[in-house]
Amino acid sequence: MSDTIFGKIISGDIPTEFLYEDEHCVAINDIHPQAPVHVLVIPKKGIPRLVDATADDRDLLGHLMLAAGRIADQLGVADAFRLIVNNGAGAGQTVFHLHLHILAGKSFAEGQM
Ligand code: IMP
Repeated sequence: MSDTIFGKIISGDIPTEFLYEDEHCVAINDIHPQAPVHVLVIPKKGIPRLVDATADDRDLLGHLMLAAGRIADQLGVADAFRLIVNNGAGAGQTVFHLHLHILAGKSFAEGQM
């Protein structure tokens, strides 16, 4: 867990609908969606940034990727989605509890990030 908004969501202190939950992660709708589908996949373990993950987190990181694919499939966007991790404030990270953004439902122009 972490002392961030995501830690509080995972602990239940801030009631939030989980689109998906398993032993290791949850998925929620982003509060400020940047696309028609904007879902966050959040590990229950509070790793601040991707670079803070260690070799001990190898299975968890793989699990998050697989969960993201499964969630995209459940949401009907398995054929066209983006998976984004912002690492560090300079890259736009605002919540320091690792999470994956699933973005879908709009056209992402070729070559555009
Ligand atoms: P970051 O900028 O990669 O750290 O992403 C954090 C994301 O969390 C942003 O897209 C925010 O809109 C989103 N967010 C912040 N607070 C909440 C919340 O309480 N519920 C759902 N999403 C949130």
